[in-house]
Amino acid sequence: MYDNNNIFAKILRKEIPCDKVYEDEFSLFFNDINPQAKIHVLGIPKIKCENFSDFVSKTDDKIINEFFKSLNLVINKLNIKEKGYRLVSNTGDDGGQEVPHFHIHILAGEKIVGIK
Ligand code: AMP
Repeated sequence: MYDNNNIFAKILRKEIPCDKVYEDEFSLFFNDINPQAKIHVLGIPKIKCENFSDFVSKTDDKIINEFFKSLNLVINKLNIKEKGYRLVSNTGDDGGQEVPHFHIHILAGEKIVGIK
């Protein structure tokens, strides 16, 4: 069950601040507090969903579409399309997920080797 007190839920409710990169009606992108690369941005949808599978299976198609369009927009905004980047979504214990709100890591700005 979705934990309303997870840190990203608090960020979405503006109970704690974030270093915002981009926001629209459906999603929020912000810098990771503990960056694992020169560029490390997290993207989250503004709905209650725990992980990638929940997001894709329980969410309205329009919201899924808008989220991935915004992700691509942020990739363009970060100017990393040409040099490349890594997208990661950790899920569950084996995936090493720490925050139980679906999120995508955007890692870039240097060669990404064996992290996150
Ligand atoms: P994951 O292991 O995929 O669940 O990743 C959670 C990520 O959230 C980690 O990279 C943390 O550094 C990051 N994180 C935790 N708290 C915050 C916060 N308040 N603001 C920004 N990033 C955070």
